[in-house]
Amino acid sequence: MPLRPYIVGNWKMHGTRAMLSEARAIDRAAQRHMKVEVAIAPPYTLIHPVHREAEQIVVGAQDCHDQESGAHTGEVSAPMLADAGAKFVILGHSERRQGHGENDALVRDKAQAAFNAGLRVIMCCGETEKTRDAGRAVAHVKKQLKASLPEGIEDAAEKLTVAYEPIWAIGTGKTATTDDIAEMHGEIRKLLITLFGEEAGSEIRILYGGSVKPENAGEILSVTDVGGALVGGASLTADSFMGIALAAGETEEG
Ligand code: PEP
Repeated sequence: MPLRPYIVGNWKMHGTRAMLSEARAIDRAAQRHMKVEVAIAPPYTLIHPVHREAEQIVVGAQDCHDQESGAHTGEVSAPMLADAGAKFVILGHSERRQGHGENDALVRDKAQAAFNAGLRVIMCCGETEKTRDAGRAVAHVKKQLKASLPEGIEDAAEKLTVAYEPIWAIGTGKTATTDDIAEMHGEIRKLLITLFGEEAGSEIRILYGGSVKPENAGEILSVTDVGGALVGGASLTADSFMGIALAAGETEEG
């Protein structure tokens, strides 16, 4: 059976305890949209508070360290996230790859650490505008994704989600065309089938991310092989975030 559309909010470095009321509002609304899996990845400091209060939404993290524990000042490990109530972790986000120098090998080690701790992984991939303009977007994304995934992931359809996020579309108000999204998601699907076999490879959800809003969500989410959205800016208020979840639910009915 196909998995439900997955709408994930990445709060990035936004949110103090005052934002818990927004998380509560998202949780209440999610209870009315059971056809959609709704999740948020708040900053580390809000993972446990959101986990304690949420009845419906799933809470996750935006990164983790590749080691279980040790002398790594300022870092947070995957077992710590699981202990705080996180069920998944976003890895390989372009803001970490570009802003924190994370390469594919490190992202892959982080993913292995997350799986070892029982977390699900949302693995991000995406190209720069320069790479797209040079006609190398598909080749770049497939290479990056393959190199970022550990080998032999068990129950891959359940444990792994891929998020295609063109870097030039993140936080810019620009979105990829539906043709470009269809092409990229189709290519990612082929790669996942090669890596994980027909059954799991066909079921793994591939999210689109990059300036998704309630106004464009219906169109994007109805593209073949788009299994949900990874949402930054528009996930910070319950109104706009749940507008996207509603569009996902309607796509599901259609
Ligand atoms: C993101 O950072 O994952 C993202 C998609 O951001 P935005 O929705 O703000 O473009």
